[in-house]
Amino acid sequence: MLVAGNWKMHTDRAEAIALARAIVASLGDPSPIRVAVCPPFVNLEAVRQVLEGSPIALGAQNMHHEEAGAYTGEVSAAMLRAVGCRYVILGHSERRQYFGETDALVNQKVKRALQHGLVPIVCVGETLAERQAGQAEAVVERQLQGVLDGVELPSAEALVIAYEPVWAIGTGHTATPDEAQKMHALIRQLLIARYGDAIGRALHILYGGSVKPDNAAALFAQPDVDGGLIGGASLKAADFTAIVQAA
Ligand code: 13P
Repeated sequence: MLVAGNWKMHTDRAEAIALARAIVASLGDPSPIRVAVCPPFVNLEAVRQVLEGSPIALGAQNMHHEEAGAYTGEVSAAMLRAVGCRYVILGHSERRQYFGETDALVNQKVKRALQHGLVPIVCVGETLAERQAGQAEAVVERQLQGVLDGVELPSAEALVIAYEPVWAIGTGHTATPDEAQKMHALIRQLLIARYGDAIGRALHILYGGSVKPDNAAALFAQPDVDGGLIGGASLKAADFTAIVQAA
């Protein structure tokens, strides 16, 4: 199980430090559940200091696909490693929707992240219109094949998939445990076909989209739901801790 908090564009420096401190204090030792928090870039260093000595890992929310260069305003994989990141969220639907990220671009980012030993948390998920048109499975399959094209994995620990239906993000409309499991089972089949039985079965598939303390346990009880990617509820230490404890 892995539970990761995506803080999105929330928290200034002081708020990020306070939130990280509160999570460290209330979680204690969360083993065997893996926990990560993904603050905004500018707060990574401050949060890293708070997490030092705790089992909570640090992640970023995005990165550039090139190694380095004249890309004003961008952040590289090497920079994220140097500041202590283990994870990086890639291809979040907000990046796709507002910043034009495509499967082909996300695919380049995944490859770059892996080169640097970062664990990409790669997001896929259909929109409401796509689901209503009966296209949810086809969309997720296309996204998954696109972002993983030519991606080789040394182990099941090297990469994480997050299924985040766009209609469930920030809306309060969580996928039912059954809806989540159906899509996760499809993703599992595709991963097994691509990476073989051992890696395919062991890869973490997270669910994201309006996960709250009161619905987390039912989602996490599904056989192919290996944890969650938490947005809004990760900004309150008590809620985030309750979700981790449900895992
Ligand atoms: P919410 O938990 O706020 O719906 O956000 C989910 C998400 O986008 C996590 O990456």
